Amino acid sequence: MPRKRTTKIHCPICKKSVKSTDPNFPFCSDRCRTIDLGKWASGGYVISAPVKDAEEPIREDTPEDFD
Ligand SMILES: [Zn+2]
Repeated sequence: MPRKRTTKIHCPICKKSVKSTDPNFPFCSDRCRTIDLGKWASGGYVISAPVKDAEEPIREDTPEDFD
């Protein structure tokens, strides 16, 4: 099968198919792009590096029975 230049992916937000030529790529719309930005702002994504100066402490495996 010949490969077309336009790659189709799925919008990470609503899973709608998006063409790589879409101005909002990789999102299907500006709305989904905004939602994605909001996710970042609210910490919806897990960041590999620990953020120590965050207002809300991220609780991950808090040792409750340390000596
Ligand atoms: Zn979408």
